[in-house]
Amino acid sequence: MSTLQGQMMDVQLLVSALLRHADYNHADTEIVSRRLEGDIHRYTYSEAAVRIRKMANALEAFGLKRGERAATLAWNGYRHFELYYAISGIGSVMHTINPRLHPEQVAWIVNHAEDRILFFDITFAPIVDAIADKCPTVQQWVAMIDPDKMPEMKNVTPVSYEDFIQAQSAAYEWPELDENAAAALCYTSGTTGNPKGVLYSHRSLVLHTYAACLPDAFGVDATDVVLPIVPMFHVNAWSLPYVGALAGVKLVFPGAKLDGESVCELFENEKVTISAGVPTVWLLVLQYLQQNNRKLSTVKRMTVGGSACPPALMKTFKNDYGVQLEHAWGMTEMSPLGTYNHPKAKHLQLSEDEQFQARLSQGRAVFGVEMKIVDDKGNRMPQDGQSTGDLHVRGPWVVDRYFKKDESPLVDGWFPTGDVGYIDPDGYLTITDRTKDVIKSGGEWIGSIDIENIAMAHPAVAMAACIAARHEKWDERPLLLVQIKEGQSVTKEDLLKHFEGKIAKWWTPDDVLFVDSLPLGATGKVQKNKLRDEYGDHLLKQPA
Ligand code: AMP
Repeated sequence: MSTLQGQMMDVQLLVSALLRHADYNHADTEIVSRRLEGDIHRYTYSEAAVRIRKMANALEAFGLKRGERAATLAWNGYRHFELYYAISGIGSVMHTINPRLHPEQVAWIVNHAEDRILFFDITFAPIVDAIADKCPTVQQWVAMIDPDKMPEMKNVTPVSYEDFIQAQSAAYEWPELDENAAAALCYTSGTTGNPKGVLYSHRSLVLHTYAACLPDAFGVDATDVVLPIVPMFHVNAWSLPYVGALAGVKLVFPGAKLDGESVCELFENEKVTISAGVPTVWLLVLQYLQQNNRKLSTVKRMTVGGSACPPALMKTFKNDYGVQLEHAWGMTEMSPLGTYNHPKAKHLQLSEDEQFQARLSQGRAVFGVEMKIVDDKGNRMPQDGQSTGDLHVRGPWVVDRYFKKDESPLVDGWFPTGDVGYIDPDGYLTITDRTKDVIKSGGEWIGSIDIENIAMAHPAVAMAACIAARHEKWDERPLLLVQIKEGQSVTKEDLLKHFEGKIAKWWTPDDVLFVDSLPLGATGKVQKNKLRDEYGDHLLKQPA
């Protein structure tokens, strides 16, 4: 049966359109970067667009074809921003690699992606030296630095980024690509097995960018100054380099200096209004502010995601610094945005404390993402704020298939996220655990995130991780690992007392171990698998 077709223009949704939009409409809006050269670099969207067109010509002169991959190992900065647009814009694939991975894994990823050219910040020159002779597909290495600051290298002779584009014309017509063509590639930081590639299309990136700008998501407009701390090598910095161009915000890139002092200096000097990062980053910023008695004068909101936001962190930022931490949830496979926590009108009638409580969940689905909670048999569970199960999602920016994998990860057309949680009648999602981190005690689930949040609310605790430790009677019991704040102390007994009345008694950890530091993975999350390997038998060794 034929349907009546709409009669609107068939204009493809392309990454290059975001750049052209910023170039025409926000030509003199600034992009500011802290450079490895040591200075602060500033230019405008229109100056960026000139260099991006030169890079497009340079890539074509090099011979990079449509669909071929070009990789980066780089911090957040203007050259990385230029590559985002130039590589995708000519129809090739922008492949961001996480430089915190082990060089063996980086080499594996480069080979799997068959990258033809690799751009790197000189911080990562040792990685390039280590992998160069293991990566036969890479025909050109480009150092993202001024020509007079080129690094001494043993196994490659890179060209400087500036020399690579210098002779090129600034005239370039962006091709009309198919919006379903691949535009960007990012490998998951999976803890088991090899990483898996998620291949974003122009269409998925543009639709995701629209959604990310919505008032109930990042909610940016052309008066904002946005500093993405979340790295551009981790799910496209949660899409902020694209959001910047769509909304015409001033972007501020922090480069390699992510310590509290350097970040706060940029916040103040550049009058940053919005920032985004994982909880560990905000813990560092908070420590710096507290220890140096500093305030933040322009920051309004900080998005926190990547792992659960500790309530104590949100409370302190709000009460002591007037900054709202906004909780969001997503994953590499979702470009990454799934949910974002903003209040509804009815929440504004609640008491201050109730409003604070409402802010703690991971938030509501942004339009474009559908969510459901399913039981062990795959049946949809009620959205009642308590039925807990596996979270499945679908939408136009959710992965359909991993790069070069034949089998689909989908179940009945939905992507199983590997997260466990519940959804309330208002649509707010609460993540209680990762499937693989779940603690099952006597057949009942214990939410490790809840336990960690309570521990982290103790004034002496810097970081906490709760893992499943094997137990003779209950199969698994919660074991808490704690990193104490510098100069503070607390006993195990005091810490366990702190749990009283806050959770069911049987959720209280069986033991507390104090550690110097918790192992963090390449994206700043505590590596619970490592902790399980090391401490998983701890309770079995205890005298009964
Ligand atoms: P990645 O693909 O590295 O971004 O990791 C995605 C995973 O991080 C999700 O599946 C969650 O397990 C976790 N995650 C992301 N955001 C949150 C959040 N706000 N709260 C709890 N877990 C989160």
